[in-house]
Amino acid sequence: MQKDKKTEIRKKADVFRNGCKVSHYGIIDLFKECERCGYKLLRYPLGEDADLGFAVKKDADIIIFTNTCSRLSREIFTLAHEIGHIILHMESMTSFIDDALTVSGKSKDEKEQEANYFAACLLMPSDDVGKFLEYEIEDFWENGLSAMDIARIMSEFHVSFDMVLNRLENLGRIDKNERLCLDNERNQLRAGNLLRSVGGNRHLNEASLEVDIPHEYIDYVIYNYNHNAIPLETLKKALECCYLTIEDISDRLVEHSQEEEGLDGLIGGLED
Ligand SMILES: [Zn+2]
Repeated sequence: MQKDKKTEIRKKADVFRNGCKVSHYGIIDLFKECERCGYKLLRYPLGEDADLGFAVKKDADIIIFTNTCSRLSREIFTLAHEIGHIILHMESMTSFIDDALTVSGKSKDEKEQEANYFAACLLMPSDDVGKFLEYEIEDFWENGLSAMDIARIMSEFHVSFDMVLNRLENLGRIDKNERLCLDNERNQLRAGNLLRSVGGNRHLNEASLEVDIPHEYIDYVIYNYNHNAIPLETLKKALECCYLTIEDISDRLVEHSQEEEGLDGLIGGLED
């Protein structure tokens, strides 16, 4: 990525971050920030092998989906990546679907790399990472970092162990060898145990399996059902996510019959 492109992305990430509630260093709750920005956020446990997230512009709405079968730290990164697409790319394209390839940085696609860079700058800005190392890690200059220190950074910035290593290496705070050693140390101790031992947020390393669907979404599903765009089975499943049954909304339904389909319609309907 070109240097001036990087600077531009960093600036935009800073502007977004300036509106966010930050604790000492890290954004407290990126999910809540979506509400502040007027994005419609959908969180649903779509399955471990399913897509990780998407961002779609539909009429005046911007909808973000994140799969809550991911570990929470990964889900937060996916969310930051989707916000990146919205801020950087939504003028030219209206939908982005992300899987393990695009979010891990393995995709060569320029927009995917830009969204990942935005996410890294949003979640772990260079200045704040530097301050954390200097103020919060004892003996950083003498002894460098231990896996426990990485867990402390994870907990403050709400990111994964791998994301911390990536970011520190990209910022020139650790070299390849140190990274390898920290990675080995983590493999022996496991990130969940490390988080526990530093009194950090161990939920970062677990899937939240959260279901969070805005009420407009239900209106949208009912509208689609009434216009024959989704089958009854999909409507029922979408309602279940919100702890509703057909009886609860029966006065809003138009009568018709249709073949049954899978859960794909729940998400597929949004992408049209
Ligand atoms: Zn993407």
